[in-house]
Amino acid sequence: MPRILSKVRSALSRVRRALPGGRPDLVRGFCPICDRAVVFRIDGEWLRDQFVCTGCGSIPRWRALVHVLQTHFPGWRKLAVHESSPGGAASDKIARECPGCVQTHYFPGVPGGQVKDGFRCEDLENQTFPDAAFDLVVTQDVFEHIPDPARGFAEVARTLKPGGAHVFTIPWYYWKPTLVRAVRDPDGTVRHLEPPDYHGNPIDDKGSLVFNEWGWDFCDFVYRASGLTTTVIRIHDRHLGIDARFIEVFVSRKPGGEPQPPPW
Ligand SMILES: [Zn+2]
Repeated sequence: MPRILSKVRSALSRVRRALPGGRPDLVRGFCPICDRAVVFRIDGEWLRDQFVCTGCGSIPRWRALVHVLQTHFPGWRKLAVHESSPGGAASDKIARECPGCVQTHYFPGVPGGQVKDGFRCEDLENQTFPDAAFDLVVTQDVFEHIPDPARGFAEVARTLKPGGAHVFTIPWYYWKPTLVRAVRDPDGTVRHLEPPDYHGNPIDDKGSLVFNEWGWDFCDFVYRASGLTTTVIRIHDRHLGIDARFIEVFVSRKPGGEPQPPPW
């Protein structure tokens, strides 16, 4: 009898392990990118890169950005959108579902406006788009890598329509002032003020140099550079697979336009 009981127990525990409920590394939820019920998998403690949707492979900051698009700009699929430096499941979703989206990369040496490897080349600091071309500009972990971010934010503002918004992520060190890690001198050379730090880059195996670790003064910087007012949105919601450090979503609004109240 005890043997039968132990067999039943081990069979039950096998079933439990096979179900998400019995495995602490699996979380049932709803993926904003897949737009359906999914299972999220936790591969390690650094949730920012290790809390993965088993449906689309996305990570929390991508889901956070899409969730903000859905909740703050429910009509985003019909808008004119520019995404600079796309990469990953959120960018793929935007490309797939928003016909009015143009995604650009910066290829050094290629003139702005020209197409290379299927992407229009645009330098965020010197864009060839006309003024007021877009309802939304999207960037994901890009602005820590821009040598002259004031110019980059000013260009984003120039290309937005009145009432338009820049929706973006950056790693935000909100507990300290901005740390300038590197600057570009007038002759174009990069001068390091701190040991070089590189992040992964979808179009360059060498990675991207971090110029700025943005801190508590960040929203003021954006305002001074561009006149855009920034709201920081921080979501911790395991059901949406949005839980990690450094996954704040920023919405910088250009003054003007008609307010678009939410559907509720
Ligand atoms: Zn997903």
